[in-house]
Amino acid sequence: MSTVEAPVTIVINRLATGPTPPAPVAAGGPNALHTRVAEVVAQMGPPPWSRRIIADERNLVTLIASPPGGGNRPHWHREFDEWWVVLGGHLQWELTGDVVVNAAKDDIVWVPRGAVHHIRNIGDELSLRLAVAMPPAWHFFHPCEQCGFADDGPRQWCA
Ligand SMILES: [Zn+2]
Repeated sequence: MSTVEAPVTIVINRLATGPTPPAPVAAGGPNALHTRVAEVVAQMGPPPWSRRIIADERNLVTLIASPPGGGNRPHWHREFDEWWVVLGGHLQWELTGDVVVNAAKDDIVWVPRGAVHHIRNIGDELSLRLAVAMPPAWHFFHPCEQCGFADDGPRQWCA
């Protein structure tokens, strides 16, 4: 039996209908004009944690902290490529296709849709990464094809 999946619909709520005149800033939700990473880290306390920084119709930006040895549940995305800016520590991405990317502070990592990504803090200090995804950010969990890491958590999740 085959399953036909409905295409994902992304609703854009705030479209410009013409040239946008200068206007006061109207930020909302988690969005802030200026986020200081050090302040978020101080508020959130010991890792692991994640904190949404920006969310709109096109962007889901999340600051993620992992302790040494910590990391994500390996998964892939169907609808979007995902990328990260490493803000601290040393991280490793194990990817479908026998690819390993090691990255450190100030590095940018990009992963195409469909690639399982298993991200781990391989250093001995806190790691910080800013993840940029696109809503609705469905996660399809899958064992890491490289190290075999798997867990029995839910198979799908939408950020
Ligand atoms: Zn992901």
